[in-house]
Amino acid sequence: MYFCASHFKQFNMAAQNYSKNLFLRAFQGLLIVGLIATNVYLAGGIFDLFEGQLESKSQEDAPIHVQAPPPQTLYGYDKSKYTFYREKIKPNQFFSAILEHAEIPPQKSYAITQACKGVFDIRSLRAGKEYTLVYDDPCAAPIGLVYEPSIYDYIKFDLKTPRVERITRPTTIKVETTNGVVRGSLWQSMDAGGNSWELISLMESALGWAVDFYHISDGDMYKLVYERKYVDGKPAGINRLLGAYYKTKGQEYYSLWYDNDNYKGYYDLTGHAAKSRFLKAPVKFARISSRYNRHRFHPILKRRRPHLGTDYAAPVGTPIYAVADGVVSIATRRGGNGRYVKIRHDKTYQTQYLHMSRFAKGIHRGTHVRQGQVIGYVGSTGLSTGPHVCFRFWKNGRQVNHLRLHFPASKPLPDAEKQEFICTSKPIVKMLDDIHFVKDRQAVLAQK
Ligand SMILES: [Zn+2]
Repeated sequence: MYFCASHFKQFNMAAQNYSKNLFLRAFQGLLIVGLIATNVYLAGGIFDLFEGQLESKSQEDAPIHVQAPPPQTLYGYDKSKYTFYREKIKPNQFFSAILEHAEIPPQKSYAITQACKGVFDIRSLRAGKEYTLVYDDPCAAPIGLVYEPSIYDYIKFDLKTPRVERITRPTTIKVETTNGVVRGSLWQSMDAGGNSWELISLMESALGWAVDFYHISDGDMYKLVYERKYVDGKPAGINRLLGAYYKTKGQEYYSLWYDNDNYKGYYDLTGHAAKSRFLKAPVKFARISSRYNRHRFHPILKRRRPHLGTDYAAPVGTPIYAVADGVVSIATRRGGNGRYVKIRHDKTYQTQYLHMSRFAKGIHRGTHVRQGQVIGYVGSTGLSTGPHVCFRFWKNGRQVNHLRLHFPASKPLPDAEKQEFICTSKPIVKMLDDIHFVKDRQAVLAQK
């Protein structure tokens, strides 16, 4: 009798935390639904329940709408008959050690490991992840073990038989909408509105061709129609952003997802393709003379020095273009870089153009530039063997190989395809137009 009391206590605490988390999560979900006017189409369950609660709040005496209680099982085990105990995998703890810890005899442990073959690779267990032991008699060895590699499936080890199976959780996709008004930064506003970073960055890629998200203004409005995955009824990641709307400075922008065998990408209302946010190169008709290379041997310094840019060789005086909209953060002459310009495009991306012979007129710190605007001319200033522009691409403060980054520009639709596009996107446009703005979240809270 090696654990009874203590394990029971721990399990009860774990169970309470678990249900508390679930409740909190559901409550957060409801907040989003209520205050940010996230409307759920094709949805049932929890949202119906919420509406019921809203009604019963406003009319105190109205009967409360009662939902059928959820099934009381965990991993298919009846919760009233079994006890569960959660543990964390320790660093360097092998599967055999987990079974040993659970007091499974060695020969049984071997049979269980054999039963894993073809179902689950025991080497894929990750330290820090939790597993659950299942007991029919809390004073005996466990009869089951459950490991969840992801939210989408779990591995159920029947320790008695033994048998191992992978159970895929049912995943459904629901179309949902959200909207909001920007106050301060876009990310702050959207995050405060309960939107995930995943959804926010999807909106940026859908509308980045039209909206400069680095220069948004207070009072800008956005509306989104997207698909959310639900795993076992619980909200999970975003599947696709189907449509996005953004209103800034009196201008309205729509971006609609279109997807078939030949075309895939975002388009405007008339089926015009979203152009890429970044030009592929900062100079036209130039050849790449040196690629991004972390282990390059430097031709002048005669030693190994990583080249964190892409060199485009071109005659002196060839115009250099800003690859995207942004603000000049540096325009100066300094050391090996020679005369160079650095542009901030948004929170994430900056680009840098080195060895210029001169800057274009009006280019200095703080200048707003548009994609394709000339910012300077090719030269050979600084540490350089010949006229070229060394182009550096910064992502989150680190220099990356821009040729490896993917900024989708959608393929243009031929006229024959546009009719089809307009038909398929019509319901999405209607959904966007039907979304009513919650003017100010604080005001809504104050009314309650
Ligand atoms: Zn270079």
